[in-house]
Parts: sequence; C-alpha cells; structure tokens
Amino acid sequence: MKVIWNDKIVDRNEVKIDMEDRGYQFADGIYDVVRAYNGKFFTLDEHVDRFFRGACQTDLELPFSKEELKERLTTLIKINQIDTGNVYFQITRGIASPRNHTYPDPEVVAPVFTASATVVPRDQEKMNRGITASIIPDTRWLHCDIKSISLLGNIMAKHEAHKNGADEAVLHRDGAVTECSSSNMWMVKDGTIYTHPDGNLILPGVTKIVLLRAAEKAGIPVKEETFTVEQLKNADEAFSSSTTIEAMPIIEIDGCPVGSGKKGPIVEKLQQYYLNEVEEQCGS
Ligand code: PMP
Repeated sequence: MKVIWNDKIVDRNEVKIDMEDRGYQFADGIYDVVRAYNGKFFTLDEHVDRFFRGACQTDLELPFSKEELKERLTTLIKINQIDTGNVYFQITRGIASPRNHTYPDPEVVAPVFTASATVVPRDQEKMNRGITASIIPDTRWLHCDIKSISLLGNIMAKHEAHKNGADEAVLHRDGAVTECSSSNMWMVKDGTIYTHPDGNLILPGVTKIVLLRAAEKAGIPVKEETFTVEQLKNADEAFSSSTTIEAMPIIEIDGCPVGSGKKGPIVEKLQQYYLNEVEEQCGS
C-alpha cells in the first residue's frame, strides 16, 4: 500500500513516526476522512475546508494550499487504484524535543502529514437493516467542532456502548442529545427531522450538509435544534450520519425499538437523495 508521508508518496512500511511527535505525545493534531466512489472524491472541498478551519482554530500552519492538498489526495487514490473507499489524512504539530506543552516555533518545527487510502465498499445491507445504539453521557471537551485526533472521549463512549451490546453511542449533555461517538445524530417526529445545531458541542458533519440539502430537495421540514433523550426515545425514526456510513437507521435504543423498529420512510428517502448526489458528483 502506498501512503503519503509529508510531501512524498512511499510504501506504508517506510513511514517512521518519531516518539516525540506531538501527535503521539499530546494528540496535538487534526484529521479528516473523505470518501471516494467510482474513483472520484465525494464532497472533497467540504472536507478540505473543514481541515483548514481546524488548522486555523488550533494555530497549526499547514505546509500546503487547499489545491495542493486536493492534488496529493487525488494522486493517492489513483496510485492505490481506489474505486470506492476511504481516505484518512492527518497532520500533527511535528516533532519537538524535549517534550513541552508550549507550541513550538513553526519556523523551526515542521508539521507531520500522513494520509492513507483503503477500499471500503458501500454496505447497502447494513444501511437497510440499521444499527442499535446506547445512550451515553457526553463527557468530551468543549471544542467538539474541531476534528482533533484526540478522540479518547469518543472512543470511551463507543466502548461503553459496545459493553452494553450496542453498535453506537448516542451522546447527551444533561439530557440534551448532541451527536454520536463517530457520527451526527438525527430524529424524526411527526414528519419533521431534528438534529443538533452546529456550534462547539458537535462536529459540523459534511454528511450533515448533504442530508440537509437532500431534505430540502425532498420537501421534508428540518429543525436544527436540540432534542432530549426522552424525545428521542419517543421518535418515529432515528438515524446517524457520517462520511463512511452515509445515513444509517438506528432501529433500537437501549434495547427498545425506535418507531416501528425498522428503517423508516424518511431515512429511506434521504438515503436515495444521498445516492443521487453521489452519482451526480462521482458517476454511477
Ligand atoms: N461527529 C463525529 C464525532 C464524527 O467523528 C463524525 C465522523 N467524522 C461525524 C460527526 C460526521 O462527520 P462527517 O459527516 O463529516 O463524516
């Protein structure tokens, strides 16, 4: 497998990550995941924009322009002959020794960039069947809008959900649902879709942008407002969204069926619109 390591394309086993890399020591870095269908990126601009925003929010000076980054990622999927799959890319603040919390001078310490691509086909069967979820307190920090590589809060929540026998963790702060451990969260009640507004408590999902557009096209009303765990448990439908899972029905929460306990008609419609947009951008 070929990967990107700083400005080079190398074999996966040639990459050497220093033990004093600030990503390794402090989780001082940001990342993103973008998906390709039929050998073409879907919503690449939105992912790259979010990456640049995260760099700005953390005062991390990126060593490339948006265009250069897009070119490099496109080369990566071509070289690896990725048809339908995921590209993970991240940057850390580099290797600074001795270990010190203070940001190093960017003139002296260069950031470390890596990217890899993996073939991951669409799992239509899972998108029809749906997944289960468990309600877990959101104990993460207050910059959840930054796609930080520091994911301990997220993975602890996912682990709790798995221990409860569920696929995903639906997170809440004092009873208000924020998002899931690795996706945005949605519910449907009486024909209206609800999802948490953007801000510092959730990641502004790229899939969320696509689904909001899909709902508008389909004439389904959406309210970007907070809903409670109680409201979620009485919802007609629930689903989560991310680049890798698209719009994924949540059919059971804490062991109780959501609505009919099967994929609902609104998420079904959004899935169709999502696929239409994929076909428009990437062909079929
Ligand atoms: N929230 C969290 C915590 C996530 O990890 C993800 C996945 N990156 C999302 C939301 C969804 O973001 P996107 O639609 O851009 O993949």
